[in-house]
Amino acid sequence: MANTKASIITIGDELLIGQTIDTNSAWIAQQLNPLGIDIVRRVAVGDNKADIVAALDAELSRSEIVIITGGLGPTADDITKPLLAQYFGGKMVVDERVQLHVRSIFERRNLPLLEVNLRQAEVPESCTVLFNKSGTAPGMLFEKEGKMIISLPGVPHEMMGIVEDEVIPRLRQRFTSDAMVHRSVITAGLGESFLAEKIKDIESALPEHIRLAYLPGFWMVKLRLTGRGKDEMQLIREVDMRQEEIANRLEEYVVALEDLPMEEIVGRKLTSLGQTVALAESCTGGYLGHRLTQVIGSSKYFQGGIICYQYEVKEQLLGVEHALLEQEGAVNEAVALQMALGAQRSMKSDIGFGITGLLSPGGEEGVPVGTVWMAITNGDTHKTKAFHFPYDRVRNKEVAVNMALLMIWKFVNHQ
Ligand code: AMP
Ligand code: MG
Repeated sequence: MANTKASIITIGDELLIGQTIDTNSAWIAQQLNPLGIDIVRRVAVGDNKADIVAALDAELSRSEIVIITGGLGPTADDITKPLLAQYFGGKMVVDERVQLHVRSIFERRNLPLLEVNLRQAEVPESCTVLFNKSGTAPGMLFEKEGKMIISLPGVPHEMMGIVEDEVIPRLRQRFTSDAMVHRSVITAGLGESFLAEKIKDIESALPEHIRLAYLPGFWMVKLRLTGRGKDEMQLIREVDMRQEEIANRLEEYVVALEDLPMEEIVGRKLTSLGQTVALAESCTGGYLGHRLTQVIGSSKYFQGGIICYQYEVKEQLLGVEHALLEQEGAVNEAVALQMALGAQRSMKSDIGFGITGLLSPGGEEGVPVGTVWMAITNGDTHKTKAFHFPYDRVRNKEVAVNMALLMIWKFVNHQ
């Protein structure tokens, strides 16, 4: 049986002019995907009656489920509700539960209740109310010729609450289509065509219902297995087995078997080894420390960081030699290593990491723009590496930090 098809229509002028980025449809797609529902189209339209009706007509002709977000606010520019009332017929009625809820929200906030706010409790007779516990605009479910049309507020956290509490359980019950299972193998250090070559036989032996995708990023490639099937437990076993097969083959290039940010992968590794890391950051200005501390529990392994932009700071806080900086400048292997050693020594960590570079024009003479030196040490062994990043300042910084995280990960794995 083919999977159930769904369309998402996002409504709002702010989406079309790029003032608000449409995060709603990506999030909704992520929720529907594991239910085995295929999103076949995502459309954005303005707060305009003719455009909304045209989008609804078009999506109802191709999908069994149409999810709409936006245009449910109390102000005049939000026209979705009266439009849907007209589209599906029937008069407006007051929903008692929603009215009580709206009143209690305003009482709690000690705000006067305006006529427009009370109108939030009015819904088309033809809909089923999808209760919005965190806001005043209820969601609405309409049924037409066996199809479901779901209208949700645009405010992301309200939309999410309704989807989780009201929408998912209904979809699960109604559309018992195939289950879908995703598994990832995150690799670093080998390009996608070389990876493909290494696992050629495994890939060609995959059954019809399990697919493999290569998703390359900055110096990393994510391999994603997607399986579909009736029996979810059986499917999980099958996809897990293929994941293990691929991971075993690519062993030295595998960074993680879960789709996690690099800082989390590094964090888990350091935690499992019981090691700590300290940083000396020049060109990344603390961004590496920021990334590492995005992870819950990073205090277990992150000792601290010194942002050492000027020569004096490199010398005084990290013990980088004055003469070296004077003669060779700050962007070279020796400085990076002295920074790493200085970080490890001064912050008493197991591992010290140093990063120094020139990310955009206007720095030290003789150093090509984009040059970054990194060094890592555990006191006994050191490793250093030069990079040449080709982007603008902001992107160079982003890539440098990703590479730094990767370098830390490799070092702690192989030291
Ligand atoms: P509305 O329900 O149209 O009044 O939307 C309220 C607010 O939710 C808008 O001002 C946006 O900031 C936000 N919003 C609306 N649609 C989206 C969307 N597709 N993705 C993210 N935020 C949205
Ligand atoms: Mg709006």
